[in-house]
Amino acid sequence: LKHMNQYIGDLAEGSLDGDLDIHDCTETENISNTFNIMLARLRLVEESRQEFVANVSHELKTPLTSMKVLADSLLMQGDAPVELYKEFMQDIANEIDRESSVISDLLTLVKMDRKSTELNVASTDINDFIEQILKRLRPIAEKANIELVFESNRSVTAEIDATKLSLAFSNLVENAIKYNRENGWVRVSLDADHKFFYVKVSDSGIGIPQESIDYIFERFYRVDKSHSREIGGTGLGLAITRSAVVAHRGAIKVQSTVDEGTTFIVRIPLRYIV
Ligand code: ADP
Repeated sequence: LKHMNQYIGDLAEGSLDGDLDIHDCTETENISNTFNIMLARLRLVEESRQEFVANVSHELKTPLTSMKVLADSLLMQGDAPVELYKEFMQDIANEIDRESSVISDLLTLVKMDRKSTELNVASTDINDFIEQILKRLRPIAEKANIELVFESNRSVTAEIDATKLSLAFSNLVENAIKYNRENGWVRVSLDADHKFFYVKVSDSGIGIPQESIDYIFERFYRVDKSHSREIGGTGLGLAITRSAVVAHRGAIKVQSTVDEGTTFIVRIPLRYIV
């Protein structure tokens, strides 16, 4: 940018006359346009950085504020019954869990972003890989009374970073369970062609309003902040998922109808392209 600035300054002063005709308006305009585009991009990056820092501070401060209020009111109680102490301590413990989840998701995201080009890729049986993920999540689905089904009728082998993609798919299935209804279902299916494999995660849940669809992959975005907080969301899960998918040169899209359900479709190349 400094060089570009200098170059434009020189052009204006005419000191580059020998190299370039200052009266060649098109050339000057081109450079100036490129400069403006770069400046606009830098502004966007800076704005998004500031927004991210503000969001992180807010998300980390909220549980601390709650803990402080809970601790202060306990201290003011004097001879409160032990049950009240227990209840408040449980609330404090919940806030500590929340703070830990935010920090742990943030660390995952930062690691994922920084090392997006350094995938630890290995040839993997994708059916086994998904079965393993679902095995871990089945107790959560059962506890929530959600039927969890896996459909696949072909064998698929692909070059993936199992740790990163496992996080990506776990987040999608966990969300499908979390944002579901009583006695609902979650269906995970696997398909492939000669270039890609496709994983579809569908649910019978609450759905995502059309106006929110474009934002759900953004860090800390949540459709319903209070509901999400109640069920333990940090707003970072889908950002982590997208980061892992993009690192694999894959793509993710979502279709949703409010009160009917949501489907996420992930497409990953069978062979990892460096
Ligand atoms: P969170 O930790 O809040 O679940 P995510 O980044 O995983 O954060 O998701 C962002 C938001 O997208 C969620 O808060 C929720 O509002 C919405 N969302 C994600 N998955 C689903 C789904 N399967 N059904 C309905 N809403 C969803």
